Amino acid sequence: MENYVVLGATGSIGTSTLDVISRNPDLYSVYALVANSSHEKMLQLCAQHQPQFAHMVDSQAAKALQDSLPKDCVTQVTTGEAALSAIMTDTHVDTVMAAIVGAAGLVPTFDAVKAGKKILLANKEALVMSGQLFMDTAKQSGATILPVDSEHNAIFQSMPENVQSALGFCDLEQEGINHVLLTGSGGPFLTAPLSSLSQMTPQQACKHPNWSMGRKISVDSATMMNKGLEYIEAKWLFNTSPSQLKVVIHPQSVIHSMVQYNDGSVIAELGNPDMRTPIAHCMSYPKRIPSGVEPLDFFKVGQLTFCEPDFERFPCLKLAIQACEQGQEATTVLNAANEIAVEAFLNEQIAFTDIAKVNSACLEQVKPNPLSTIDAILALDEQARQLAQDFIATAL
Ligand code: NAD
Ligand code: MG
Repeated sequence: MENYVVLGATGSIGTSTLDVISRNPDLYSVYALVANSSHEKMLQLCAQHQPQFAHMVDSQAAKALQDSLPKDCVTQVTTGEAALSAIMTDTHVDTVMAAIVGAAGLVPTFDAVKAGKKILLANKEALVMSGQLFMDTAKQSGATILPVDSEHNAIFQSMPENVQSALGFCDLEQEGINHVLLTGSGGPFLTAPLSSLSQMTPQQACKHPNWSMGRKISVDSATMMNKGLEYIEAKWLFNTSPSQLKVVIHPQSVIHSMVQYNDGSVIAELGNPDMRTPIAHCMSYPKRIPSGVEPLDFFKVGQLTFCEPDFERFPCLKLAIQACEQGQEATTVLNAANEIAVEAFLNEQIAFTDIAKVNSACLEQVKPNPLSTIDAILALDEQARQLAQDFIATAL
């Protein structure tokens, strides 16, 4: 039995992970569940999965959960940073699903990396903030990183074994790889008139044509910042240079990404847009397990189309590619600014098109700043959040 911690257990990826675990009860067991504040959902999950630990980041939520659990329950409720860190380094834990949304996922995920666990990485923001340190630490501790993000999982599946076993340090040229094609649907506003974008509401932005996801990543998909964060994520996982990584719009989301080889071959991974496929792949790699996903019906798919991204429509994608070239300081600042901007948009404080303005203004302030520790990264993250908040308060 492989013992799991699910970080972000109450979210979209957390729920899909627990669904795959339930379908394969002989292989996986839930050791700990971690969430922010949704104690009612956590109560249901505890009844269903009987974890040893249920950790709520919000202490009030921890209390509410404790009060509502039956007295004879096996689950111990915890809260606080020290308790979370103890769970991440617990010797009973084999595997961690890292699916907290945003920068909040960095510290617990990094603790698990240091402890040499197997990490199924959905929380792309952690890698965007700490890429070099994250991959170096995994190499030192012997932690295994497997990409859950559907594009990176597709790239991983389309790569030779030499690349799969040397994530972060692979030499693509030596493996005969010309470039990686990172596909993205273009989100709900791919064909909307440019002049209408400033009027788009949170509800419209969260209505993704193909995928059902949490609200933050849904807005990131509408701005294509999600593809930008994924561009940075791909650089760290597959050690790509700028000429080895291209973004392609593919509105049907049937191809989840591709690898173009020097002999002209292109290898892709295809499937229905359901995150249980990449989750199950990471859980069972190199084997395969049932995931509950419907098989792809090519007659229903009909056609697959592709086009180049338009940076006028998607300025956030361009900012992320620039930040990636600029370095770790820039990607950390961009990630923090974007989290503040997306939250302000979801709270109807700023317009959809203001998200790119906040991000751009914060990126302009980036100064060279060597980031060799998690504390230095968190301090810069905090500064950038303040900068973004000030910009929203004074310039918009
Ligand atoms: P979600 O909003 O549905 O769930 C987020 C989870 O994180 C919840 O369990 C919540 O309790 C927890 N959380 C939020 N703030 C927290 C905090 N401060 N401390 C601890 N826990 C906190 O999000 P999601 O769509 O499941 O996405 C999770 C991560 O996976 C994101 O990084 C996202 O980019 C990535 N991802 C998601 C998808 C998808 O299809 N949903 C696909 C690829 C990658
Ligand atoms: Mg993705």
